[in-house]
Amino acid sequence: AAPLLDVRALKVAIRAAGGDVRPVDGISFSIAAGETFALLGESGCGKSMTALAISRLLPDAARVDGGELGLAGDDLLRLPETRMRSVRGGRIGMIFQEPATSLNPVMTIGDQIGEALQLHRKLRGAEARAEARLLLESVGIPGADARLDDYPFQFSGGMKQRVMIAMALAGRPELLIADEPTTALDVTIQAQVLDLLAGLQAERGMAMLLITHDLGVVARMAHRVGVMYAGELVETGPRQAFFNTPLHPYARKLFAALPDGARRGTMLDAPVGSVPALDQDFVGCRFADRCPQAFDRCDDESPGWQQIGAQTVRCHLYDGVSVPRPLHRAEAG
Ligand code: SF4
Ligand code: MG
Repeated sequence: AAPLLDVRALKVAIRAAGGDVRPVDGISFSIAAGETFALLGESGCGKSMTALAISRLLPDAARVDGGELGLAGDDLLRLPETRMRSVRGGRIGMIFQEPATSLNPVMTIGDQIGEALQLHRKLRGAEARAEARLLLESVGIPGADARLDDYPFQFSGGMKQRVMIAMALAGRPELLIADEPTTALDVTIQAQVLDLLAGLQAERGMAMLLITHDLGVVARMAHRVGVMYAGELVETGPRQAFFNTPLHPYARKLFAALPDGARRGTMLDAPVGSVPALDQDFVGCRFADRCPQAFDRCDDESPGWQQIGAQTVRCHLYDGVSVPRPLHRAEAG
């Protein structure tokens, strides 16, 4: 089937004093209807800029500098802004790390959900209120009817994120973009909100672009995963294959940074070091400075994509390799 979201050779450039910075430098992936695709990487690798480019919410200094963005056949880069406004919050729902910054502090939750319902589904008055109550119930907020009249400050962090999810669902999105949706929450609350999102995703058949730096979130949520490093994708594949045999030396380093026994599903941050500055002209592999397996060629030649079973990887080690080797922890370090 044709993909719901099709990202082709996407580039984002940001104007800076010393010349353009390229936080997203030619990435391609697609997401099928009903599929959760996790974009995994460290902070600063370009994940959030990718999400902002898709929803056309890039900051003023940034622009899409190449590539294509298709949503079920529509060319998102060429839609007039008026139509994009109905796509955003309609066909594409969005939730971010900090629910507090996305909610209006002086408007009741019911009125905020009501605005989204009016804009995207033309519901008003009692009809909108009834639908808002159903939405709050669907995200597990107890006493939904009374809570419609509450203001954001009357909700805890986890409950605020549930409200954000309800608002994102108001337009019945085909694609939900969730950028670090649980990173700001306590660990036990994180798990509850992730389970809620997974349930809603399956129930509604939404596709989801899930942006995270957390392998535990990927393990819990993703159907497929793409690993980003320094503005590029370096590996993609089905979740199970990725967890069985991460291929790229960077991905293997992320796993090696986890304590023993934590490989599957533990909520862990896995810092591996800092992503290189993106205002340089790269020659060779961007991971070469940090790669334990780098060899001569890596400094001179940018690696192309190799297909290994259901996975793809950008690394010279896999030239001419067609079957994944199992991960040995010692070699991943
Ligand atoms: Fe390491 Fe070379 Fe592969 Fe880059 S291309 S990840 S430096 S082995
Ligand atoms: Mg981010």
